[in-house]
Amino acid sequence: MPREKVITTMPADDGDDRKVDAALRPKLLKEVIGQRKVAERLEVAVAGCKKLKEPLGHILFDGPPGLGKTTFATVLPNELGTTIQMTSGPALAKPADMLPFLTNLDEGSILFIDEIHRMPRIVEEFIYPAMEDFRVDIVLGEGMSARTISMQLKPFTLIGATTRSGMLSGPMRDRFKIHEHLEFYSVEELAKIVTVNAAKLNTPITPGAAHELAHRSRGTPRVANARLYWARSYAAARHDGSITEDVARAALDMAEVDRDGLDRNDRKYLETLIDVFGGGPTGVEALAATMNLATDTLSDEIELYLLREQYIVRSPRGRVATPRGFGVLGKVPPKPKAEDPQPGLFE
Ligand code: ADP
Repeated sequence: MPREKVITTMPADDGDDRKVDAALRPKLLKEVIGQRKVAERLEVAVAGCKKLKEPLGHILFDGPPGLGKTTFATVLPNELGTTIQMTSGPALAKPADMLPFLTNLDEGSILFIDEIHRMPRIVEEFIYPAMEDFRVDIVLGEGMSARTISMQLKPFTLIGATTRSGMLSGPMRDRFKIHEHLEFYSVEELAKIVTVNAAKLNTPITPGAAHELAHRSRGTPRVANARLYWARSYAAARHDGSITEDVARAALDMAEVDRDGLDRNDRKYLETLIDVFGGGPTGVEALAATMNLATDTLSDEIELYLLREQYIVRSPRGRVATPRGFGVLGKVPPKPKAEDPQPGLFE
């Protein structure tokens, strides 16, 4: 078994969803459901580096939140028989914040940086030589008396995760040897995840119920796990503890997750776009301000799914509700005027 050494600068109170995540996270690549091509490429990379006796190349995972970036990162040390240290971009304000992690590296171990796009440029530049030559340059003193010393590091693997790969600088992106983009999951894959996790939680669930939860989980394993936890509580409180299709449906209705799988925030987004802004086009900042939510929450957590399901599209002038977006709220889209943009053309 790999040794456990997890140093984390992520806030301990990271919300209930994070605690659920940790309990249900797969431990090995073969336990990861879906994303098969990604898992297979990582299996090859792991087997290759073991044979070549080299550290695994630096890896960048990108994709919407809750799709498994951290899961893949935490599975890899188990596959390699090594340790992992975890931190996140916002916790690394200055180069010195990196030092405890760099000095704690074991040979071939993993350093995971979540939200790596939020790391300041000065820290980014500090770790370039660490990524390339396993070395960092430390400046001691100030002004005329300042001198630079070079510190050799143990060979290691940096794993970065980002919801916004476009915000990473080119030089940073180029230093990762492996880039993997994670996609939303199919209902079948999510149903499998729900079934496996229900078994881990000793909760009986019917295939129909697993499908119902999966169908209403926004293509996202983290959401599926949260829905499963809720349905489990509901089944225990109101029934005999087993999740049947009827129980799953009633639990999700009570949580205000609609039959299309949209939750309160999704509907609020569409209602704001349609009722306040006439269906758009409108900028994401205006939408966020009207909904009283952070722009990042809107673009990272809400919009990506609405875009994928074509409830909205992005145009150069802002977000636009599609006929499907109007339809899901039971509304009729206005007739397009001749000068209106053709949303789909601008994606
Ligand atoms: P991200 O880092 O992309 O935000 P996580 O890796 O934290 O997402 O995934 C959220 C939760 O979803 C995990 O704890 C895990 O339980 C579950 N999960 C994610 N991907 C998978 C998968 N492919 N198979 C099984 N469970 C998964």
